[in-house]
Amino acid sequence: MRLSQMLFVTLREDPAEAEIPSHKLLLRAGYMRRISSGLYAYLPLLLRVLDKISNVVREEMNATGAQECLLPQLQPASLWQESGRWDTYTKAEGIMFVLDDRRGQELALGPTHEEVITAVAKDMIRSYRQLPVHLYQIQTKFRDEIRPRFGLLRGREFIMKDGYSFHADADSLKQTYDDMYQAYSNILRRCGLTFRAVEADSGAIGGSGSTEFMVLAEAGEDEVLYTEDGQYAANVEKAVSVPPDSVPSPFDTYEKKETPNTATIAAMTDFLDCSPTQVVKDVLYQVGYDNGWQVLVIVSIRGDQDVNETKLQNALTNLAGDYDASAVLSLVVPDEEAQSKWATKPLPLGYIAPDLSDDYIGKVEDLEPKFLRLVDQTAVGLKNFATGSNESGFHVVGANWGPEFELPKRQLDLRTAVAGDRAQHDPSQIIQTARGIEIGHIFQLGSKYSKALGATYTNEDGKDVPLEMGCYGVGVSRLAQAAVEQSYDENGIVWPVAIAPYHAIVVVPNINAEDQMAAAEKLYDELNAAGVETLLDDRKERAGSKFKDAELVGIPFRVVTGRSLKAGKVEVVKRASGEAEEISLDQVVSTLKDWIAAEVG
Ligand code: ATP
Ligand code: MG
Repeated sequence: MRLSQMLFVTLREDPAEAEIPSHKLLLRAGYMRRISSGLYAYLPLLLRVLDKISNVVREEMNATGAQECLLPQLQPASLWQESGRWDTYTKAEGIMFVLDDRRGQELALGPTHEEVITAVAKDMIRSYRQLPVHLYQIQTKFRDEIRPRFGLLRGREFIMKDGYSFHADADSLKQTYDDMYQAYSNILRRCGLTFRAVEADSGAIGGSGSTEFMVLAEAGEDEVLYTEDGQYAANVEKAVSVPPDSVPSPFDTYEKKETPNTATIAAMTDFLDCSPTQVVKDVLYQVGYDNGWQVLVIVSIRGDQDVNETKLQNALTNLAGDYDASAVLSLVVPDEEAQSKWATKPLPLGYIAPDLSDDYIGKVEDLEPKFLRLVDQTAVGLKNFATGSNESGFHVVGANWGPEFELPKRQLDLRTAVAGDRAQHDPSQIIQTARGIEIGHIFQLGSKYSKALGATYTNEDGKDVPLEMGCYGVGVSRLAQAAVEQSYDENGIVWPVAIAPYHAIVVVPNINAEDQMAAAEKLYDELNAAGVETLLDDRKERAGSKFKDAELVGIPFRVVTGRSLKAGKVEVVKRASGEAEEISLDQVVSTLKDWIAAEVG
C-alpha cells in the first residue's frame, strides 16, 4: 500500500479523550477514531492488526479441533428468560442492549452467546456419538458497560472470539478446558504478549472452575495476586491467602466501655490501645434478589480485614434458594436514604455488634424481617475481642463467641486477600500484586445452561442427560490495544512483528530524486511479492516527518532509500531496538524475510 493513496492522518499532540499510552498512540497514529462513548471506527491499519490476531486465534482454535461458525447478534429475550439470565443482564448488571421489534417482541444485542449456542445444541445434538464438539465464532459483541474507557480496552462494541464446547461428561470437558488453556497460552505468546494465567471468579456466567489470561500492564483494571514460586496466581476477586496472625488480646474481662467518636476502626483501636486484629467489625449490606426480595446482611470480619464483595455476592447467590430466589440483582452498603426505608430507629453506625437486634428492621413489603448474619473465617477464632455495643459512642471489649455473642451459623471465606499475606500452598511464599488486563477467560460451565434450556443427549445407557458445557472467550480488539500498552516507546508504537499491520515500510526521503523513487518502487514490489507486507511512503512530505510517522505507526522494519543508494545500499532500521544497518539492495528481501521468520516463527 502507498501512503500517498491511504487515508493516513497522524496527530502530533495527544488527544484529550485518551488517558493511557496505548489509547493515545492508536489515536495519534491513525488506527482508529472515536465515534461515541465506547464506539470506535477501526481504520484500515487497525483492521489489519485485528485480522492478524483473529488469524492467530483461528489457527490455534482449529488446531484443537474446534470449528468456526457465526451466530446471530440479535437474540430473542425468550432464550435469556429460559436460562434465567434476562433479569441479571438487563437489570442487575444492566449490561445488555435491549430493543423491541415491530411486532413488539423483545430482543437483545448479544453480549455473549451461551443461550444461542445451547439452543443449537438442543436442536442438533442427540447422541453421545456426536460428542465432544466445540464451535467458536469471531464477532462483534455489544455491552452497555457502566464505564466504557481506555479505548478498545473497554468498549461498548468490541470483537470477541467466543467458543462453546459440549461433552458427555466432566472428564471430557476438563480435557477440552486443558486444551483451551494451552491454545490461549499459545495465542498470547504468538501475539508477543507477556501474560499470566490466573484463577478467576466465574461471575454471572456461572459454573465451576475458570481461568483468566491477564496481560500484565499498569493500566490494567484487574488486580492479580501471585507468588514468586509460580505456584499460585489469582484474580483478587477470587484470591485466597493466610491473613497475618492476630496479636493476643489485651482484654481479659468482658465490659462495655465509653469510646466517644470512635466510629472507625482506626479511631477505636487508637482509643482502646489495641490491635485491629483483636476487633470484630460488623459491616451492613443490603442485597436485592431477582424475585424482588430484599435482605439485610451483617458480615462480621476481623478489624484489619476487608470484605471481598465478589465473594460476598457469590455467597448470597448460594443462599438465594433460602429466599425462593435464584440470583442476586443488587448488593450495596445501604446509605442513609436506603436505611430510612426500613430502619425503625437510627442505626448505631460504627458501633454495630454481631447481634444487632432484628427490631431495627421495620415491617416493609418484600423485606426479610431478620438480619442474615455471616461471619468471615478471620473473626471466628478470635478470643476476648472488641466489637460494637449497638450503642453510639460505646464498644465492648473482652467479648467471646458463645458467652457474649452467638457465632453465626454461616462461617465463610469473605475476606479480600492482599499483597504481603502468606500463601496458602506454602506460607513461606509472600503474596505479590500486579495489574493486569483480562484478555481471555475460559470456563467449565457444567450443565447450568443445558439444564435450564433442556439441552440433553442420549448416553451410552440410553438415558437422556444434560450436556456438559465449557465456554472460552478472548477479546480480539482488547488484545490489539493491550499489545500496544505493553510495547511502545517515546516515539510511538512498537508492534510485535506477528501482529503489526505491515512488516516493513519503504521510506523515500525525497520523492523528486529519481534514483530514490526507482529503487523504492522496485523494493516495494519485490518485498510484497516475497510476502513481506510492505508500505511505501511516497508522500510529498519532509524526510523528517516521514521518519517520525514510521516510528509512531510502529512498523517493525524501515527501509530508507537515501544516500547509501550510491553504494548500492539502503539503510534498514529495526523499530524495536533502533539499530540501523546498510544492506545491499539485492539482500534486502532475504534479510527481512529472515528477520520476520525469526520473530514470527
Ligand atoms: P471484564 O471483567 O473486563 O468486564 P468480562 O469478564 O466481562 O471482562 P468475558 O465476558 O469473560 O469478560 O469476555 C471475554 C473477553 O472479552 C474478555 O476476557 C475480554 O478480553 C473481552 N471483553 C469483555 N468486555 C469487553 C469490553 N467491554 N471491551 C473490550 N473487550 C471486552
Ligand atoms: Mg465485563
